[in-house]
Amino acid sequence: MACDEPVIFDGHNDVLCKLFRAGGPGQAHSFADGRDGAIDLPKARTGGFGGGFFAVYVPSPGDGDDKYEEMTRSSYDLPLPDPVALEYAQTVALSQVATLLELERQGSLVICRTVADIRTALAAGRIAAIFHVEGAEAIDPDLHMLDVLYAAGLRSLGPVWSRDTIFGYGVPFRFPSSPDTGDGLTDLGLRLIRRCNQLGIMVDLSHLNEAGFWDVARHSEKPLVATHSNAHAICPHSRNLTDDQLRAIADSDGMVGLNFAVAFLREDGKMLADVPLSQVLKHLDHMINIAGEDRVGLGSDYDGAVVPQDLTTVAGLPKLRQAMKVHGYDDALIAKLCHENWLRVLERTWGA
Ligand code: ZN
Repeated sequence: MACDEPVIFDGHNDVLCKLFRAGGPGQAHSFADGRDGAIDLPKARTGGFGGGFFAVYVPSPGDGDDKYEEMTRSSYDLPLPDPVALEYAQTVALSQVATLLELERQGSLVICRTVADIRTALAAGRIAAIFHVEGAEAIDPDLHMLDVLYAAGLRSLGPVWSRDTIFGYGVPFRFPSSPDTGDGLTDLGLRLIRRCNQLGIMVDLSHLNEAGFWDVARHSEKPLVATHSNAHAICPHSRNLTDDQLRAIADSDGMVGLNFAVAFLREDGKMLADVPLSQVLKHLDHMINIAGEDRVGLGSDYDGAVVPQDLTTVAGLPKLRQAMKVHGYDDALIAKLCHENWLRVLERTWGA
């Protein structure tokens, strides 16, 4: 990395879905060449972006960016799309996994299966990618696909992306709203959690509603992790975490990644990009205050959301480090927020 500030390892991006929409694995070269998006190799070098969780996410048929228009109102309650069928989900998911594999084959990133893999990649200036599944629609009820994806490198999974699955009920995009919006995990969802624990796949709590969150808290043996969520006390959005949830994350020695999506940052919940970095720091302050400085990191949602105008791509990340400094965070805390906390929690979750 050209940037000599602490490298940023990030809890969530949707670049694989963006490349899927652009045409699939054949578009992987654009990641190295420079693409019209938030993350690519040239921008990563400029911003000191070291990698993070690369999500495989199955968009609903016909799903576009029109939902963001609705989210510019002063209150909203977006209907969740219908569940998607297994065969459709597997077709889309496999295309995105193929893109991830192609990115590795082209030398753009390294798919990391252990924390040692991540440290090696970061030290070599390579992008360290965790293969993550956001919404388990592509997993069959017998969980056979889970084993197959694990063998391909899967190390993190969210049972739902808001839309209902056979494993549970997600949280809708609603503002203002409590995250307590309905039933949580199904019995099959609990089986999925147990199997993830056995295999060493991290379970992601972002997009679960509050009941689902507590189901995982009761049944998972691992630290509780929300890869890309913010503080409900500051932005009362259904997707954000209450102080009780943040305390449970702290009690389990897990962590939360700060989401840059403006609708989860702004106090008015609007998906509008004119958000100062001071608002980002407000969430960090609150989450550090409640969960502790070892349990907060970043989870940008790059290539999957509208983000603050100063942080439109990973090339802008130096501005965030600078804002942390000016705000009074010392070097040790900044290093924890940038990557050290993620490595610590992954070590506890996967084993060293
Ligand atoms: Zn998400």
